[in-house]
Amino acid sequence: MFKALVVEKDEESGKTSASVKDLSLDDLPDGEVTVAVDYSTVNYKDGLCVGSGGGLVRKWPHVPGIDFAGVVEESSDDRYKPGDKVVLTGWRVGEAHWGGYAQKARVKADWLVPLPDGLDTRSAMAVGTAGLTAMLAVMALQDHGLEPGHGPVLVTGAAGGVGSVATAILANLGHEVAAVTGRPEQEAYLRGLGATEIVPREELTEVTKKPLESERWSGCVDAVAGAMLGRVLKQMNYGASVAAIGLAGGAAIDGALITPFILRGVNLLGIDSVMQPYANRVRAWERIASDLPMAKLEEMVQPAVLSDLPQLGRDILKGQVKGRVVVDVN
Ligand code: NDP
Repeated sequence: MFKALVVEKDEESGKTSASVKDLSLDDLPDGEVTVAVDYSTVNYKDGLCVGSGGGLVRKWPHVPGIDFAGVVEESSDDRYKPGDKVVLTGWRVGEAHWGGYAQKARVKADWLVPLPDGLDTRSAMAVGTAGLTAMLAVMALQDHGLEPGHGPVLVTGAAGGVGSVATAILANLGHEVAAVTGRPEQEAYLRGLGATEIVPREELTEVTKKPLESERWSGCVDAVAGAMLGRVLKQMNYGASVAAIGLAGGAAIDGALITPFILRGVNLLGIDSVMQPYANRVRAWERIASDLPMAKLEEMVQPAVLSDLPQLGRDILKGQVKGRVVVDVN
């Protein structure tokens, strides 16, 4: 038997509820690799799946948790053997498939990535989907010419999961980092991660009709979209790029005009972590092990256990989680 956070649906009322239950190995879905999970984490999608209505879940009972890290217990696939340390993010695990809010998980071998040297299972989940996405965003900006020494890189939603990791990685790579936050009380935290400038959220939320504004940013990792992305595009340096990773402030780009693209050669790069090809995942995890200072990662961590998840799910939907939650499922 093992413990898991199980979401159930009452068919009559349509209401869902999440609680810690005992399950057996026979309850697990089919898959080539059984993993003894050490840690999971909390993402916006987890908040949706744990919360009322079940979010993206279509089949109940369900075990949420869109990412986890642990040790292989059993494998029918040659690429993995018992004792291997692995990490899983994406592939709709935790939404369409049972996920990481459990002491055991059974998944397809294709979905796993071996942990690189220098990362243990706890630090892998301090990074999690949010940190992997931040790394993919930085890699995309670099592939499009981002180099230190050309002015500040803007990070929006900076005190959140993706924003915190992006800030720490960019600062460690030698960039000036301007961190946008709606929580002024997080200034010391963000400066501790390496931010050189704090930009209050209100400064970038007014929609303007101007075709362009003064050039300010050599790159941007944007977790917010909405009015903020519309403004930021008009403030990018000539030829600079924005990596769009999230929609914490809305699903549209409000007030966006074509002018930044055709008059300043600005690029808007879309970042998806869920279906990211294997080779790029391996490259990103290796870059995380080399480019993210572990002491800074530790400053972002808020520890939690399985029974904290219903409350943490509500918190992340309200934008109230700071940095990265690491859930010790044992
Ligand atoms: P968090 O909730 O940890 O962080 C989001 C941050 O955005 C908040 O902390 C807050 O930062 C800011 N924010 C929240 N609401 C608003 C608002 N209305 N207007 C402006 N800023 C706001 O989430 P994550 O960092 O884990 O994820 C960020 C986004 O990225 C989400 O939309 C998520 O769904 C998406 N995502 C996408 C992935 C991909 O593959 N592309 C993978 C992972 C996440 P502050 O308090 O500092 O202002």
